[in-house]
Amino acid sequence: LLGRLKDQTLVREQMLVGGKWSSEGVNGTRINVLNPSTMDVLASLPSAGLAEVRASIDAAKAAQKKWARVSAKERSLIMRKFYEEVVANAEDLAVILTSEMGKPLAEARGEIAYGASYIEWFGEEAKRVYGDTIPGHQADKRLLVIKQPVGVVAAIAPWNFPSAMVCRKIAPALASGCAIVFKPAAETPLSALALAILAERAGIPDGLFSVLPTDNARMFGEEVCSNPVVKKLTFTGSTEVGRILMAQGAQKIMKLSLELGGNAPFIVFDDADLDQAVEGAMLSKFRNAGQTCVCANRIYVQSGIHDRFVEKLAMRVSALQVLDGFESGATIGPLINDEAVAKLYGHIDDAVTKGATVVVGGDRDARGGTFVQPTLLSGATKDMKVAREETFAPLAPVFKFDTVEEVIELANDTEFGLAAYFFANDLRNVWKVTEALEYGMVGVNTGLISTELAPFGGVKQSGFGREGSKYGMDDFLSMKYVCMGGI
Ligand code: ADP
Repeated sequence: LLGRLKDQTLVREQMLVGGKWSSEGVNGTRINVLNPSTMDVLASLPSAGLAEVRASIDAAKAAQKKWARVSAKERSLIMRKFYEEVVANAEDLAVILTSEMGKPLAEARGEIAYGASYIEWFGEEAKRVYGDTIPGHQADKRLLVIKQPVGVVAAIAPWNFPSAMVCRKIAPALASGCAIVFKPAAETPLSALALAILAERAGIPDGLFSVLPTDNARMFGEEVCSNPVVKKLTFTGSTEVGRILMAQGAQKIMKLSLELGGNAPFIVFDDADLDQAVEGAMLSKFRNAGQTCVCANRIYVQSGIHDRFVEKLAMRVSALQVLDGFESGATIGPLINDEAVAKLYGHIDDAVTKGATVVVGGDRDARGGTFVQPTLLSGATKDMKVAREETFAPLAPVFKFDTVEEVIELANDTEFGLAAYFFANDLRNVWKVTEALEYGMVGVNTGLISTELAPFGGVKQSGFGREGSKYGMDDFLSMKYVCMGGI
């Protein structure tokens, strides 16, 4: 890894505990960070224990008090410097990302730019935390609303976007005047640590942003949910873990943002533009090797366009290049671990046993390890695992349908509600389907919806809270109503 970097100091085998870099945790345990493509050990990091979590929370408390008093303009300028550091070091950050997570370097570069855009956006939004004045209910009263930072925030992130998930959480937290104690996934802590180094260089004050990789995620969750100093938790991960954290946070009525699992429907109606729909399916399904929470999980295609769609999609899926993320032309890297591979083949076997047809792929990749063949199935039905569970792998199951009513019912028949996509041109149908889909985000004639300018988040068991857009700041602010009397 180091040989590939322009600036080798961006990789540190340390954790950042309340402004102090530390090579040794009190528990003495360590985390080996692996390259999922080669299984080489990239780094050996100290694992944070309870003492480090508490020290970070205490430092965050002190740092946050000072940070909240810094003017919004000054905070915004420091964040602008942070953004510029990220942009200036984008190539190294992308290399670190591909090394620890496996995604193709081109996608890693995209993720770094995408993550940076949140730092830029929220740095600007820092200056726009407006309140309200409200006409009084009595002649001598004046009513105001002011917004204040919630205080110390904890964050827990997954491995699938090791860099962008950090940016999406720390940017609104820092912009709104909060401090943040961040736990990256143990599989991918190096990207978060590299961002912390750049934050430090940009002048983000010590203690405001801690990074604590740990082999004991449960301990971290329990501490931040019970420690009275921590006022909010922002979590991205599985619905199962989200449920645990919500129950733990209930003890202190904790403010939460939860971005949980998805099971995105991707619907193609007869009047869709075929090429656009195929392109959208490729982006939505196979980006990040299918390992995103907004990836199309179920592809519903109306009977009139079905065979042509499957044929075109098959050509595109066959052309995907399963390669190490650093090899040129790579479009699908390795999956994150053996469990992910087992889940994928469990879904394929279940579907085939219940009558689905393998159109492309379906087998192990010749490279071995966690490299898998991108797979296209036709003849999928609602009794299959692919209809109910998030596959999180490059598997595209195609379901045939006839009517609009039928597909809306199928699309909504899940406990999840994160992203949905559909391709259609009849304007009335477009509105009807948009309104009927029980999802937090809907892509119409596009397979790619994520941007810092829009509110990202779900409904139902996909969670609540929004990341990005003017709404994203609200998750880190408390509203205070002020009633001034005797005027
Ligand atoms: P994934 O399937 O993407 O790994 P998880 O929900 O298991 O989803 O993990 C997302 C994040 O949640 C990771 O950082 C992981 O370490 C953390 N995590 C897992 N279990 C717990 C827990 N009981 N308490 C707090 N954090 C947890």
